[in-house]
Amino acid sequence: MSSGFYFDISAFVILLCLIYAFFLERMHKIPENDIILVSILCELLASFIGILRGVPPFSAPEYNGLLLLTSDSITALGIALLVLFVYRISVYNIGLIKYLIFVWIPLAVDVILCAVSVLGGVPETRTAAFICDAFLLIAGLNILIVYKKNSYLERTFMLILTFAAAAVFTVVEALMPEMRMQNFALALLLGEEFFSLRNPDEQYDINTGLLGEKAFRESLGRRLFYLNKHKSEKIYLVMLAVHGSETFMKLFGDVNEIKLRKNVMDELIRIANGVSIFRVRQGLYVYMVDEEGLTEALRIQGDLNDRFKGTFGKDAYELEIHASTSLIVLPEMADTLPTVLDLLYMAAKEGRIKDKRIVDASKLDSGREAYIREVDEKVRNAVSSGNLEVYYQPIYSLEEKRFVSAEALIRLHDGDKLIPPDVFIPIAERNGTIIEIDEFMIQQVCRMISDRNIESIGLKYIEINLSVPDMIQENLPEKLMRYIEMYHIRPSQINIEITETSADTFTGMVEDNVRKLSKLGFKFTLDDFGTGYSSLSRIIMLPFGIIKLDKTIVQPPYNLGSARERDSAMTLLESSADMIHRVGSETVAEGVETEEQLNKLKELDTEFIQGFYFARPMPESEFINAVRTMNIK
Ligand code: C2E
Ligand code: MG
Ligand code: MG
Repeated sequence: MSSGFYFDISAFVILLCLIYAFFLERMHKIPENDIILVSILCELLASFIGILRGVPPFSAPEYNGLLLLTSDSITALGIALLVLFVYRISVYNIGLIKYLIFVWIPLAVDVILCAVSVLGGVPETRTAAFICDAFLLIAGLNILIVYKKNSYLERTFMLILTFAAAAVFTVVEALMPEMRMQNFALALLLGEEFFSLRNPDEQYDINTGLLGEKAFRESLGRRLFYLNKHKSEKIYLVMLAVHGSETFMKLFGDVNEIKLRKNVMDELIRIANGVSIFRVRQGLYVYMVDEEGLTEALRIQGDLNDRFKGTFGKDAYELEIHASTSLIVLPEMADTLPTVLDLLYMAAKEGRIKDKRIVDASKLDSGREAYIREVDEKVRNAVSSGNLEVYYQPIYSLEEKRFVSAEALIRLHDGDKLIPPDVFIPIAERNGTIIEIDEFMIQQVCRMISDRNIESIGLKYIEINLSVPDMIQENLPEKLMRYIEMYHIRPSQINIEITETSADTFTGMVEDNVRKLSKLGFKFTLDDFGTGYSSLSRIIMLPFGIIKLDKTIVQPPYNLGSARERDSAMTLLESSADMIHRVGSETVAEGVETEEQLNKLKELDTEFIQGFYFARPMPESEFINAVRTMNIK
């Protein structure tokens, strides 16, 4: 037996183990990996034929030539696939011309040369065929080097090493045909390639079996890299946002949830028709359409819209699922990973908030999300940068006909602009800096009360807004008392405004703090009454001396479009004012801008008015002057 025979046996065993491991590790679950699988199968077959050539009767000359042709051609095909795989993973879709030049033409020439050598060509034709193999391997090597930025350093390094080794072995075999090492080298190369394959457990989302967020970031990253090099090409993302999925899934119980989820997933996959689907996060799915083009993307979007008009699940668990879709064209609408993600989240949000079925992503302000990130940064440095300032808006008493209190409202300076609190307060609440900001506010208000001796100008107390994160601090009473003592003022000079933003605002800690603080002498106002969440049954249990009618209740009776709408809004205003009196609280009407509104509120026996009609929020000294002018005539 020749040494080549043993090389082929070794290659065969290695490749067999690889195939076993391939299925054991579920590598076949990733479509791109199939190329490697076919390549392994090719080399397995080639080495098997190589082994056959060493055993009678196949070792007889009449079979030998044909077997050699088959084995060499299959090897060449395996190599071509390997190179193709490197192209696929290195840069998405290298382009037809490069495929032709670097993969398919050398492969065709290779196979022809193999055929010619067997059908009685000169020995050099076989050598030439091997040179073609070596060319294919070197092309793979080249692409690895050119696109080395596209994969991890160690991985590229290993691949380069093995590709180079395979090319060398191939050349050796071309020059010394008795040294049949090529297949053995390829088996090793494929083994190395195997270890660099992505593991499906990392790629797939366990809940849905779809490709997960990590896979999405990876594929998108590679594609954007490619698009930035090939400006004329485009990629289409079809996004599906399923709204309220957490809630309805929870209502369902485990078994039904699984069934329903499966039903939805099956439909998503059916509509994909082979296009990759990623689950970017809960309720957010993306179809990545590349080679298939715009027509296919529009087809998917259309099918999704049609499907979600119907219901999912069966029998008692049949239900409608609210969803919206959008089409995102890359790199036109976004060209970096963060901007694509921003756009996806914004499109999902727009669909949810505005209850739209189709969101036109090209009309979304993609600067918005970036702006929020910028504000987040500024909010984090708000206190230390000295950019915060407290403004005061006087509150007018209809009975006493003068200003009796004021609301402290925070302002964040950004150069010569102001960032509105509606923008930065929710951000500060999310990133936790609200506690620091409100402590600054508490300290400033206490200092102002003491410095300006507000009693002397007729002000009884100042209202400060505290958010839920402030209210759930166990040490909030001590914190407030520390400033009260430091500035020698009284707790009754502070009125704390709380907004009921969700059904569970007033639970445990918040209620405890409200009770403790009110024992210490602080007063409370319920802010934003009428904006949606206020549940009277809980509110009447808590010591709110004042309830603030929100401007969204006060203004609509005067500014809505139709008479019927204005009438309904008026009914709401009247009954809200009535309700507040019935629970024994006083009312502040917020957002009063006109005399007409003022007269109506007088009619409704509202105690206090806060609004631009009397005064806007102002910096401290301006505010003191305004109050003095009004109150001391
Ligand atoms: P809010 O507590 O409901 O404050 C009342 C808002 O209504 C203020 O907006 C005020 O300027 C505005 N307003 C008053 N009268 C009128 C009027 O006649 N017409 C109109 N169109 N608006 C009027 P601002 O200052 O922008 O504050 C917005 C929100 O930010 C506040 O709503 C409050 O929830 C929050 N906020 C402000 N300062 C603080 C703070 O120091 N801490 C916390 N946690 N939240 C704050
Ligand atoms: Mg307020
Ligand atoms: Mg309010």
